Amino acid sequence: MIAHKYDNNLWTKTAPSALGRAQIEGEHSADLIIIGGGFTGCAAALEAAQSGLLVILLEAETIGFGGSGRNVGLVNAGLWTPPDDVENTIGLAAGKKLNKALAAAPDLVFSLIERHQINCDAVRNGTLHCAHSAAGLKNLHTRFTQHQKRNAPVALINQEQTAHRTGTAAFKGALFDPRAGTIQPLSYCQGLAQAAINAGAKLFENSPALAIARNAEQWTVKTQNGQACAPHLIVATNAYSNDQLLGQQSRFTLVHYFQFATEPLTKSERTSILPNLEGCWDTALVMSSFRYDSDGRLLVGSVGSLDHATSPTHEFWAQKKLAAIYPQLARKKLDHAWHGRIAMTKDHLPKVVEFGPNAYSVFGYSGRGIGPGTVFGTSLAKMIANNDTSHLPVEPINAYAENLTKTAGLYYETGSVLTHGLYAAGRTLIGR
Ligand SMILES: Cc1cc2nc3c(=O)[nH]c(=O)nc-3n(C[C@H](O)[C@H](O)[C@H](O)COP(=O)(O)OP(=O)(O)OC[C@H]3O[C@@H](n4cnc5c(N)ncnc54)[C@H](O)[C@@H]3O)c2cc1C
Repeated sequence: MIAHKYDNNLWTKTAPSALGRAQIEGEHSADLIIIGGGFTGCAAALEAAQSGLLVILLEAETIGFGGSGRNVGLVNAGLWTPPDDVENTIGLAAGKKLNKALAAAPDLVFSLIERHQINCDAVRNGTLHCAHSAAGLKNLHTRFTQHQKRNAPVALINQEQTAHRTGTAAFKGALFDPRAGTIQPLSYCQGLAQAAINAGAKLFENSPALAIARNAEQWTVKTQNGQACAPHLIVATNAYSNDQLLGQQSRFTLVHYFQFATEPLTKSERTSILPNLEGCWDTALVMSSFRYDSDGRLLVGSVGSLDHATSPTHEFWAQKKLAAIYPQLARKKLDHAWHGRIAMTKDHLPKVVEFGPNAYSVFGYSGRGIGPGTVFGTSLAKMIANNDTSHLPVEPINAYAENLTKTAGLYYETGSVLTHGLYAAGRTLIGR
């Protein structure tokens, strides 16, 4: 059981009130059933409903319960994997297509926010990828060159400029991406869901899909008190999926990421720390992130879970990290803490699996899912509405499985506890 102090998600406190959709009851039919109400499912529901399809979306808990309502809120372009590596992994043509689609992901996110007047504290002032070491700076140089080759408007800023922008001398430099920005992620997800409802989609909460069956050219999805059938199906459950639903083997490693939020900073503290409100993360192997919320709280996060006996190690780390980069915040109270799951694939690239006729499962954003989830959801819906797979940013595959995902998950968690424990004790691991 997770301690209350570690299950206190700031985003659920500051989002406009939940949607309060009913549970599905009885029999329903539609053109498209979507399982999962995160960015992917809600973006798909919105696009499909706008294209005139009858849409039913089933969410096991409430809209945004999964990663979409727990993340840092950095709306970045591309994937975490640099664009050359994407092309080397899946081939030049396929990689180019994926890179191009995701380079434009922040444009899609911010244009949806604008078009549907989604109240989600959107700030499009860019993000800073901060070099925590000389090796980190070298890595940023490589990324910079790769982005520049693709005419991305990124800029490398030096140590002095980085200190000015972040308010700390802790970093050796940073890669600034003006295409990016920050949002209140749960509010964005709820806003997409509301826009989908306005466009005619039927959304049901507290309605976990328990079984999927195919008969007479239709998919039937059963829940405890109802069922839906449709010729098209999207499973958008990502890291919150239940493998038994699709009778699948493990498809990815579950990696956890936590965040702590301070009490709101004073006006004068805010003048020196991130005066331009960029969202930030660093180049460390066990990475950290920091950003403001709209009330001036500073959120600091890193890899790790808050649901086990050594979770306090992550809290000590957060306090120590905050004090190290911003000594003036050493005494700030951390009054919110929460974590979420990331679906990490081996090559860190998202997958679309066509597991039956007109049935798709999409997962594996590997920690970069606000833009990609919105792009993949939207393009899946476009593909279904137009019966044209060219809309998809990746080729669908028929099956996907990975071995040793539990061991890999344990490796990530143990690594983060060790790294954070040593950091809190004033030591560092080699290579951090
Ligand atoms: C702590 C954290 C920080 C992150 N930071 C960032 C960031 O700053 N920027 C970024 O781009 N990405 C970030 N990510 C990744 C991003 O949040 C995810 O990739 C994204 O939210 C995935 O969206 P999704 O819609 O595919 O899945 P989810 O949002 O996880 O939604 C899946 C939904 O499916 C539902 N579900 C599961 N099983 C069933 C069922 N049987 N029936 C019905 N519903 C079901 C779940 O309840 C859940 O709501 C972060 C992730 C985490 C956890």
